[in-house]
Amino acid sequence: MDPAVLVQGLRSTFRTGKTRPFEWRKQQLRAMIKMVRANEKALCDAVFKDLGKPPFETIIAELNGVCNVAGEMIQNLPKWMKPQTTAGNVLVFPSTNEIYAEPLGVCLVIAPWNYPALLALEPMIGALAAGNTVLLKPSEISAHTSALLSELIPKYLDTEAVKVFEGGVPETTAVLAQKFDHIFYTGGTAVGKIIMAAAAKHLTPVVLELGGKSPAYVDSVGDYMTVARRMLGGKLLNAGQTCTAPDYVLVQEANADKLIEALKKVVDEFYVGNPEKSADFARIISARQWQRLVDQLDTPQNKKCIVYGGERNEATKYIAPTFLKNVPEDSKLMQEEIFGPILPIQIVRDMHHATEYILERPKPLSLYVFTDKKDVAEHFIHNTSSGSICVNDTVVQVSVAGLPFGGVGDSGMGAYHGKYTFETFSHKKAVCRKVLAFDADIRYPPYTPKKQSI
Ligand code: NAD
Repeated sequence: MDPAVLVQGLRSTFRTGKTRPFEWRKQQLRAMIKMVRANEKALCDAVFKDLGKPPFETIIAELNGVCNVAGEMIQNLPKWMKPQTTAGNVLVFPSTNEIYAEPLGVCLVIAPWNYPALLALEPMIGALAAGNTVLLKPSEISAHTSALLSELIPKYLDTEAVKVFEGGVPETTAVLAQKFDHIFYTGGTAVGKIIMAAAAKHLTPVVLELGGKSPAYVDSVGDYMTVARRMLGGKLLNAGQTCTAPDYVLVQEANADKLIEALKKVVDEFYVGNPEKSADFARIISARQWQRLVDQLDTPQNKKCIVYGGERNEATKYIAPTFLKNVPEDSKLMQEEIFGPILPIQIVRDMHHATEYILERPKPLSLYVFTDKKDVAEHFIHNTSSGSICVNDTVVQVSVAGLPFGGVGDSGMGAYHGKYTFETFSHKKAVCRKVLAFDADIRYPPYTPKKQSI
């Protein structure tokens, strides 16, 4: 269907006011939970076809997330929808002053392929919870999940208020020519700039959930096995195709080999000696992405740096967990987001050198610090900038509903999760209520000497 017609339909629905009442919002959120629970197997199968993702990972990292977020929204909405009162002043006396969380109108959600269910449905939950209508554009690259969402959503959600528009770049470009009241985009930084430029034509506010290279600094610690488990728990989830995955490691030379040995042992532990045979290790999304990663591993310089892994299988889009030491800084592996199961380990002199290294590069989405020392953790918290920072683990910080999730600088703008999701899809409208029965004339001309003396 013509995107102009879709958007017009969503705008007409919004104007009827049907999406505003709490009851409608609750109904949609419940329907979302029902849709996910009733189709859990089909969703796992679709994500598996797209990414070879283990079904258990889809359930814990995507589907449970969607249901929990929708459930928390239903519980909290009555409180969040209530106007917040604030103090007035002499000029407006007597008055009541309140902040109303107003729906924005027609929201566009553009989703990526790496968590194709979660990153399509979680922003939608926010848009519906805040009383908006939504157009979802899933990623064409995760084609099975995109097709399934476009089949399921109209069966469960209000078809007048929620539409799914499938397609790739030309279709998304046509969608972006329309005027929206909000655009929520998750994906790469380069496309983020295209989205923002298109939104600017209509002065549409955007949230850009982008990616980039998230560093991990490993200090001298007592227990490298726990560091390795937590590092790879985040890095190898979804075969490294996670926006918050640690992209590379900074470590002192004296500790590098201890860390690398621990990382190797953990790969064996996780995948019982063979990641390629393990049902718990995902595949690369597409032949194109697989080739990109293989090309990076196979440069003569990078080949020499591989200390573990490097195996691949083109037919199954498999790439083994691979560690490299001292990768040349001008190599693509250190210049671009890796987004695969490849982990460069770079040597730094100390934490100050690591800090300089991080500060010289675009602000990351996440920063990880492994240390037993409080002052080392505090140093990074206070002297670097990133969307989030997690001390002694990776990726898990995104599961904390009370923490905002979003980037800064090149890793994005705006945030969501928990209450921030509701706020992201709402306008904070200032409402000042006065009465006509009382009027102090001191502020009106003529500004007589008597008035000026008060
Ligand atoms: P992508 O930028 O290629 O695509 C994302 C979406 O944008 C898709 O729906 C796609 O159809 C659309 N798109 C692609 N090119 C377009 C164009 N020229 N014009 C208009 N729309 C276009 O991103 P991706 O490859 O799907 O996802 C990987 C990237 O996303 C990584 O950089 C990753 O770090 C980032 N990411 C960020 C988060 C986050 O929450 N911050 C989450 C997941 C992924």
